[in-house]
This record gives sequence, structure tokens and C-alpha cells, in this order.
Amino acid sequence: MKFTEEHEALRKTVRDFVEKEINPHCDEWEEAGEFPIHDVFKKLGKLGILGIQKPEEYGGMGLDYSYNLVAAEELGMAHCGGVPLAVGVQTDMCTPAIARFGSDELKRTFLAPAITGDMVGCIGVSEVGAGSDVANTKTVARADGDDYIINGSKMWITNSPKADFICLLANTSDDKPHKNKSLIVVPMNSPGISFSPHLNKLGMRSSETAQIFFDDVRMPQRYRIGAEGTGFMMQMLQFQEERMWGAANVIKSLENCVDKTIEYCRERKTFGQSLLDNQVIHFRLAELQTEIEALRALTYQPANCTSKARMSPSWRPWRS
Ligand SMILES: Cc1cc2nc3c(=O)[nH]c(=O)nc-3n(C[C@H](O)[C@H](O)[C@H](O)COP(=O)(O)OP(=O)(O)OC[C@H]3O[C@@H](n4cnc5c(N)ncnc54)[C@H](O)[C@@H]3O)c2cc1C
Repeated sequence: MKFTEEHEALRKTVRDFVEKEINPHCDEWEEAGEFPIHDVFKKLGKLGILGIQKPEEYGGMGLDYSYNLVAAEELGMAHCGGVPLAVGVQTDMCTPAIARFGSDELKRTFLAPAITGDMVGCIGVSEVGAGSDVANTKTVARADGDDYIINGSKMWITNSPKADFICLLANTSDDKPHKNKSLIVVPMNSPGISFSPHLNKLGMRSSETAQIFFDDVRMPQRYRIGAEGTGFMMQMLQFQEERMWGAANVIKSLENCVDKTIEYCRERKTFGQSLLDNQVIHFRLAELQTEIEALRALTYQPANCTSKARMSPSWRPWRS
């Protein structure tokens, strides 16, 4: 993958942001189990980092995926996983389908403010009985005139306690599991939405995670993204960015872990020599570094192939 001066300028912008605005607060935010997400996102929005790949007409930079990848990678320099995860949910998990398939109204109402950082988004796919098996999700949006009435619940939803909207996967018919789903954008202040207490996670504690309950939540059908019944396909496409972002985001943090281990092994003396002078430790660290390089190569390769055309609204694989 060849990076240009523009990539490097973006890399520096993100790294400076991480060093000045995130790292000094990581311990405090991880301890608190939350961070001031609207403040941090507003600052990121001002720098353009929340809309790198998003269309310019809605405030994005209109760049290709390689720039997203650089930002995701650099966010991995944060000393905690929670804040980068919250950012990744906003940029690469809950907004790609709106950007690619949403109506102009949805883009103006939800995408544009997500790009400026005025709105926080979340993605609602997983349920208590359906994580990997997305087709098995049970949340229902039943048509009622021009509206849907939504009932069900979503589990493990990052950003949800402070989110302004959710990109929700719900069953809108009794058709087969891959054809009965739609993605609907739901404002989180809608009547009938409630939350579990924050889930007490082992890690990424600064990102807030909760279970959400939908009890007769009425939503206009025009808040659906694209055609009814295409939600599973759209979500599978949206997962492409999610997974790419996740892979890119851990490269630097893994490198930092290995570097810190090397530093420790160099300083720590046992039996008259540094731990690092034991060949077996050299081998293990070299194996870990090789695995990280393999991850980097595997992450760069699909990003390289992901041209603007492939990410455009006209790319609808189920029609070909
Ligand atoms: C911190 C955190 C934040 C999250 N944020 C969100 C969010 O914002 N929105 C959202 O929708 N979801 C979110 N999730 C949910 C996440 O996407 C799911 O946890 C994930 O999809 C796995 O689902 P599950 O936990 O039900 O595990 P399961 O699907 O029950 O899987 C359990 C284990 O079985 C393995 N497994 C499953 N199926 C197979 C198979 N066919 N073959 C072999 N092995 C298999 C899995 O790899 C896993 O190891 C979050 C989860 C966490 C932990």
C-alpha cells in the first residue's frame, strides 16, 4: 500500500488528536466507565475525522477507504480501546449504510450531524439470542399505515446510552430470514425506548455499552434505509467497513504491546542477564511481530482494492 503526503498529513492530525485529547484522560475515563462523547466527537468533527469517506455534499471529505484505514490505524495509538471503538462505531459501523443507501432526508437529518459530531450514533444488530447468527435476530418492525411499530431488544450496543440515533436491524415481514429484514434509523429519544444499566465490561470500559428495549416504538417508514427486505444485505455490506476498521485499529496497539514487552525484557535482569538475552524470548517476540506484520498486510490488501466505485451507491451486489 502506497501512502501519499495527504495520507501522512491525516495520520499526523489523528495522532496529534490522540496525544492531546484522548491519552491524557484515558485512565480517568476507563475508571469512570464513560467519556464526554459529544465533546470529543465535536472536536473530531471540526477536524473532519468523522466524515473522511463520506460524501462531500453532506459535509464529508469524499476520500477513498485508504484514508479511513489510516485514521483507524492511528486511533490505535490511544492508551485505551473504548474511545477509539466509540469513534469507529460512528464512522464505520452505524453510518455507512445511511451514506450509501439512505434517502436525502436521512442523510441530512442523521448523517450530516454525525459527520460534524453534533449527533452520536450507534448500531443495533446483536440480540441476546443472535450475535454471529445475524439472520436469527427477532426484533420486529410491523407496518401500521405510514409507520412501523418496533418491538424487541438489542444487546451489547456501544455508544447507546448517549446516542442520538440508532441504525436498527429489524424484521419487517415474515419472509425468509435473509429477505425479511430492513435497516431503520431510529432517534433514541423516541417514546418506548429504554435501557439496561451499563454493562460492566472487562475492557474498553470508557465506551458505554447497554441493552436497549423497544416497546411499541412508532417510527415513520420513510426512516427506513433503502428498500424493504434488503436490510440483511445492507448490514452485511456495512460489516465490511466495521471489520476493516476493527482490524486496522488494533495494528498499532498490538505493536505497542510488543514494544513495551521488549522494553521490559531488556530492563529485567535474571540470572545475570536481561530476559531479552534468552533466545526463546527472542523467538516468541519475533513470532508476535510477524503475526502483526501479517495482519497489517492482510488489512492493507482489501483496502487497496476498495475503490471509490465499489463503495458507491450504485454497487449493489444482489442485483448483479
Ligand atoms: C464490547 C462489545 C461491543 C459491542 N458492540 C456492539 C454494537 O454496537 N452493536 C451490535 O449490534 N453488537 C455489538 N456487539 C456484539 C458483537 O457484535 C457480538 O458479540 C458478536 O457478533 C458475537 O455474538 P455473540 O456474543 O452472541 O456470540 P455467539 O454468536 O454466541 O458466538 C460465541 C462463540 O461461538 C463462535 N461461533 C459462532 N458461530 C460459529 C460458527 N458457525 N462456527 C464456528 N464458531 C462459531 C464465535 O466465534 C464465538 O467465539 C458488541 C460486543 C462487545 C463484546
